[in-house]
Amino acid sequence: MSLLRLSHVSAFYGASQALFDVHLSIGEGQVLALMGRNGMGKTTTVRVICRLLRHRGGSVLFAGQDLGRLPAHLAARLGIGLVPEGRRCFATLTVRENLIAAARPGPWDLRAVEALFPRLGERRDQRAASLSGGEQQMLAIGRALMTNPRLLILDEATEGLAPVVRQEIWAAIARLRTETGMAILVIDKSLVELSRIADAAVILEKGRSVWSGAFRDLGPEIADRHLGI
Ligand code: ATP
Repeated sequence: MSLLRLSHVSAFYGASQALFDVHLSIGEGQVLALMGRNGMGKTTTVRVICRLLRHRGGSVLFAGQDLGRLPAHLAARLGIGLVPEGRRCFATLTVRENLIAAARPGPWDLRAVEALFPRLGERRDQRAASLSGGEQQMLAIGRALMTNPRLLILDEATEGLAPVVRQEIWAAIARLRTETGMAILVIDKSLVELSRIADAAVILEKGRSVWSGAFRDLGPEIADRHLGI
C-alpha cells in the first residue's frame, strides 16, 4: 500500500493554475525523486502535500487518510517532515534550540541527529545565523528528522552548496535510506546523485506528471525530452 498517493491533483495560486494533473505514489521505505525543469510545479506539489497550499481537484492520501479534509496543523502531525527550499531555521536560536523546538517522540533525538551530522554537535551552542550554508542545511534536515517523520521531503537540499558539503549531505541521505527505511521524497537536479538513492522518479512538466517509473528506466532519451539534460 502507498504511504502517500496523489491522484489527479490540481492547485492554484489565486486565479493562476500551477498544477493541472499530478499523480505520484510513495511506498513505505521508498525513495522517490520528483523532477522537472524550473517552474514546472515541484515546490507547489510539496506545498500541497504539506498542506501549505490546498489542492482544488483530485486527492491526496497519506497513510490512508484523505489530507483534503484535514487542517494544516493536524496534517503536519501525521508524520510528514519537510526540509523546505531555502532552509529556514530560526536564526536567533542556537543549533540545539532549533532542534529541540521541532522535537516529537521517536528514535530521532538530539543524539541521533548529532550522530548523523557531527558538525551540528560541534556547533550546538552557536546561533543558526552564524552557521555556514551547508551547516544550516544540515540543521534544516536535523529539524525535520526531530519531528520523527514517516515521510521526509527534501526540496533542493544541496542547492548552492560547495561540492564537498553536497557530498556530505548526499551521504547522510543515503544513510537515512539504508539505515532507517524512512520514505523520502527528494527534489534535486543532479541525475547522478539521485541515481544512487532513488528507487523511482516522477517528472513534472507544466504542472502535469508526464513520466513516472523506476529510476533505472529513466534513460537519456527521457532525460533529454523532459529535463533538457
Ligand atoms: P523551481 O525548480 O524553479 O523551484 P518548481 O518546479 O518548484 O520550480 P514551482 O515553484 O512549483 O516550480 O512553480 C510552479 C508554477 O507556479 C510556476 O509557474 C510559478 O511561477 C508559479 N508559482 C510558484 N509560487 C507562486 C506563488 N507564490 N504565487 C503565484 N505563482 C506561483
